Amino acid sequence: MSVFQELYQEVILDHNKNPRNKRVMENCTCQADGYNPLCGDKIKVFLNIDNGLITDVSFEGVGCAISTASASMMTDCIKGKSIGEARSLFETFHAIVTTSSDCEVDASSLGKLEALAGVREFPMRVKCATLAWHTMNNALASRNETASTE
Ligand code: ZN
Repeated sequence: MSVFQELYQEVILDHNKNPRNKRVMENCTCQADGYNPLCGDKIKVFLNIDNGLITDVSFEGVGCAISTASASMMTDCIKGKSIGEARSLFETFHAIVTTSSDCEVDASSLGKLEALAGVREFPMRVKCATLAWHTMNNALASRNETASTE
């Protein structure tokens, strides 16, 4: 195994075994459901947004190791980020798992997420890895900041 494959496996196994931020969030600002019929992954993403910042994020669901690890890493990664930063991370992440070469994408902002770039070798797994991100993106798009009465 290459160093890259080892890292890929280690990070995914770790996040699958001990998912970060896996809980239902009461009183979230927005949420969305995601479903990947190809694999059967189901996920719900909860976001708490205050003044354009993602102050809290969590997820719930059942899925394969890749989808769970990806959701776990996403929550770690976007917590405390602005909505704009989260969107741009989504785009970078999406690009890195769907293009064939590292040189086409500047992955420096991704940190550990780069370990998931390995899924590009397995086209069936790309949807597993991006499910949480698409769901987070939908949650952001559906937010209704004026709905709060507080
Ligand atoms: Zn899956």
